[in-house]
Parts: sequence; C-alpha cells; structure tokens
Amino acid sequence: MHALLPRIPTSPLPQRVLLVENSRAYTQAVAGTIESRLELPVTVAGSLAEAKRALDAHDDWFLVLTGLVLADGDRDSVVDFFLARGLATVVVSGVYDRELRDRLLRRQVIDFVLKSTPGSLDYIVWLVQRLERNRRISALVVDDSASARERTAWLLEMFGYRVVQAAEGDAALRALEADPTIRLALIDEEMPGMQGVEVTRRLRALRARDRVAVIGVSGCEDADLVARFLKNGANDFLRKPYSREEFFCRVSQNVDQLELIGSLQDLATRDFLTGLPNRRCFLERAEQQLPDLQDGGSSVAMAILDVDHFKHINDSWGHETGDHALRALATTLSAHARTQDLIARFGGEEFCLLVPGLDADALAAYFERLRGSVEDLRVPVRGGDLRMTVSIGVCAASTDDDLHRLLAEADRRLYLAKAGGRNRVVMVG
Ligand code: GH3
Ligand code: MG
Ligand code: MG
Ligand code: MG
Repeated sequence: MHALLPRIPTSPLPQRVLLVENSRAYTQAVAGTIESRLELPVTVAGSLAEAKRALDAHDDWFLVLTGLVLADGDRDSVVDFFLARGLATVVVSGVYDRELRDRLLRRQVIDFVLKSTPGSLDYIVWLVQRLERNRRISALVVDDSASARERTAWLLEMFGYRVVQAAEGDAALRALEADPTIRLALIDEEMPGMQGVEVTRRLRALRARDRVAVIGVSGCEDADLVARFLKNGANDFLRKPYSREEFFCRVSQNVDQLELIGSLQDLATRDFLTGLPNRRCFLERAEQQLPDLQDGGSSVAMAILDVDHFKHINDSWGHETGDHALRALATTLSAHARTQDLIARFGGEEFCLLVPGLDADALAAYFERLRGSVEDLRVPVRGGDLRMTVSIGVCAASTDDDLHRLLAEADRRLYLAKAGGRNRVVMVG
C-alpha cells in the first residue's frame, strides 16, 4: 500500500460546536474563525433557552464553548446546564475570577479561557482543533495505583483521548503492540516488577520517537530520575502531584510535536499534488526491498507508467484541470495496487510501481487491468468528462538485476509502448 504511516481509521465523529455568548461581535469572530480554519459547523446561541433549542435540534454535538453571563443564567448555573447534559464544555469568560475558575476546573470543565487576553482567539482555535484531533488518538496510562490511573484516565478522556490502562509493564507493552492508535504513553516510575524507566526503554524498541510520545511520571525526588527517563527514550517528564493545566499543556505539546514530525515526514516523502510517495521515497524503499525479494526467490517487476498526450490535456482543459486529472489517476492507481505493491509519482505525469510475487501471466493481467481502469476512468470536470490513457513499460527482474537497470529497462519498454501507438502495456522487448 502507498500509505507510509498507518492511518487511524476515521469513523464519523460528532463535529458540531455550540457557541453560547451574548456578545454578537465576539460570537461572529469566534464562529467565523472556527468555521473557516477548522471547517467545523458552529451554532451560536445567545441564551440558555436558545442553547436548549439548538441542542434538541441535533444530536451530533462535539463541544460547547460558553460564556458565564447570560440573560437567563449566571456562572455555575450556566456550567451546570451543559455538564448535566454530559457535554464537553469549555468556559470562555470575560471576567477573571480566581475562585470561580478553580472551582470550575475541579469539575468536568475542560478549560477556562479568558476572552480579553491577547491571542485568546488563536488559543481557542488551537484548543478546539486539539480536542477534535485527540478523539483519534489513544493514550496508554501505565501505573500500578488504580486511583492514580483513574485520575489520569479521567483527565485524558475529558480532553477527548481514548484511554488504555495498564497496571504493570508487561501488560503495557502488550497493549502497545496490539493497538496502533496509541500515540502517547504516560508511565509511572514506581511500580512493582518492571520500573517505569525500563518500560520506557522496552517501549522504544517497539515504537520510535516519531510514533509514540512517552511522558515519565513520578512523585519521587530523585534528582537523576528525569535524566534516566529521558536517556531511555522518554520525551518528557511530569512530577506528581501535577496541576491539571500543567498536565494538559505537557500532553498537548508532546502530541502537537508528534503531529509536526508527521507532517515534516510527509513533506519529505510524499508528493504534494497526489499524496503518493515521491520519487526519492520510492527509490529508497525499492532499494531496500529489492534484494530481500530477490534473495527470497520471489519474482518482482518494475513498471513505469506515463499519461498519453498529457500536454494536450493541459492545453485543452487548463493546467488546474490537468492537476485534477493527475489526482484522479493517483486514486485509481492506489485502488488498483495491493498492500505489497510500492507505488509513487515519479515526476510530472509519470508514475512508478514495484510489484512483487506475480508470474508473467499474472503480471500481464495485472497491468492490463490497470491500463483498462485508467481508460475507463471519467474525471468529471467543468464542461464534461475528461478521459485519459496511459502507456506502461514493465520489466520483470532477474535475480541479479539492480534497481537502476530495472528502471532503465522499464523506461525503454515505456518508450516502445509510446512508439507502438500508446494506451498499451509492453512487457518484453
Ligand atoms: P506522451 O504521450 O508522449 O507522453 O505525451 P505527453 O504530452 O504526455 O508528454 P510530454 O512529456 O511532452 O508532456 C508532459 C506534460 O505534462 C508536460 C507538462 O506540462 C505536464 N505536466 C507535468 N507535471 C504536471 C503537473 O504537475 N500538473 C500538470 N497539470 N501538468 C503537468
Ligand atoms: Mg506507582
Ligand atoms: Mg512523461
Ligand atoms: Mg506523457
């Protein structure tokens, strides 16, 4: 398959945000920004009565952002209204009241944001996005104390994470192996049996730093402990007891960083237009896989595919439509490829495939089907359906072929396919 990183399956999750505030200027700014930057639908209510009507009208609520002073409710009564309905709730307040804030944060309120501070709108947008994404991330909580585990799990769940708990190291490592959606682990040091630092060290053998963020946790004053956690692969450390806000900041920072690494990797290895692996990534992976396949006695073939008369497509439909056609072609290719096939956009309107495990007949059928799928493809564009064909050069590797000879040979056969009239597969020559 072409995916470089396993994608977490995305089941439809509730998307709707309820914004409850009586200041119109503020609600317009917040709702507009969330809708445009995050593409989440926002419903605005000016009072609890309006909020109730909105809540009754839909059942796919993801989050409530509420002020504290409304015509028909004040402070605690506003918060009670939403918490009683089991809604994820963030308070956005115009007034700073330390005592009220502390009281609310001891309850199920996710955060207390002061709307007058500079940057608060950016913070709200970041927070909503973080909470939205957290729902696709699992966090592993490793602690021998059931009460400590429950508290951490409670906090993580409030922030939207799915939580997996483990009371000791071996169970933690098994859980990690079983669940690819775990991207974050909070590991207590003091446990009977395997200690947290050792769990961290073994976890790193299973998941690299770009896959799972590890935060070491301990109440111990041992000055060396933080360094030992970090040297054994932890990304961060939290000292018990920690405040809820410190907890959320650390966890979020680590998850943000993981996502950033992910997008940097994507930038380096993926083709921007189609999302397929790029040429460099293909060559690196093919270079690794080819000798293993050949040593293992498996057949393997290299193919180069080039769109026929693509210049003409650009000339008649415009470059943007040409881009659109290339994306549609990439989708067809991805759908055709099997898990074990390596595919890439090699450059321009040229794609590349490394296909293991097929004998000559199966290989011919495989590429003939691919050629036919592209021929049958109709790309809806303004003014009609765009169609295209491809020429494909295929070279089955012999045991001592290297990558560059294979590519050169596939390319030569591609040229023969073009010369022979295009829209065809050439496998010998
Ligand atoms: P042939 O059948 O011989 O392959 O003809 P062709 O027109 O496809 O081949 P040629 O190599 O002459 O032209 C390829 C064209 O693909 C030229 C280039 O402008 C266009 N192209 C390359 N990359 C992109 C892209 O990312 N987007 C668009 N829209 N066009 C691209
Ligand atoms: Mg412990
Ligand atoms: Mg070309
Ligand atoms: Mg071409």
